[in-house]
Amino acid sequence: MVIDYIMDFVFPPRCIICGKLTGYCLNIKICHKCAENAEYVEDDWDYAYTLKNKLGQKVYFDGGKAVFKYKFVKKSIERFKYFGARSLGKEYAEIMYEYFAGSGFFEKADCIVSVPVNKHRLKTRGYDQAGYLAGNLANIANIEFVSDGILRHKNTVPQNSLGVNERFENVKNAFSVGNYNFKGKNVIIADDIFTTGATINECAKVLKISGAENVCFLTFAAAGESLGSDENV
Ligand SMILES: [Zn+2]
Repeated sequence: MVIDYIMDFVFPPRCIICGKLTGYCLNIKICHKCAENAEYVEDDWDYAYTLKNKLGQKVYFDGGKAVFKYKFVKKSIERFKYFGARSLGKEYAEIMYEYFAGSGFFEKADCIVSVPVNKHRLKTRGYDQAGYLAGNLANIANIEFVSDGILRHKNTVPQNSLGVNERFENVKNAFSVGNYNFKGKNVIIADDIFTTGATINECAKVLKISGAENVCFLTFAAAGESLGSDENV
């Protein structure tokens, strides 16, 4: 398409991981070097590890998966979250869709929700990056996106400024469901990172209380205690 060709020159395509130019008209999201060094989350990754073993919490989500290990995509996620690279949310969604297609998550889902952003941060950042990612994923997967499916009631402090135990307390009772009937539904919570799982578990909890049949999460990256590192994400 001519328009793609023109757009390539206006906005030269960059590797979504390292940010370097990938070359015109190649139509690749990840450069060869990053593709070679990609670190994917292992299939047997225990996402509930921190919740169960470090926080002693009941786990409310029924399953979920992440694509990359956080340390591999750290710089990219920082650009997405803190430096205005909003368009990365669409690229993440495309990669997530390709990666999880055929895994059964999309086939049985009735709707996709996002983790609601802190209002204060929405003001300073100017966009809801989590909603943008989740909305794009829903669009690509042809699944209903419930944009206000989960509401946030308190302006929690950023989870990455807290220790493991404080993270759970910080998000406790922070959410409720919006004006949508989740009864009997299979719901996907889409987000950029899965860390301790405290936030996603709290969202899954309110969905389950409101009658959701099955709640899974899909994220672009995963990090934290279950990785065996103390990386503060
Ligand atoms: Zn790269």
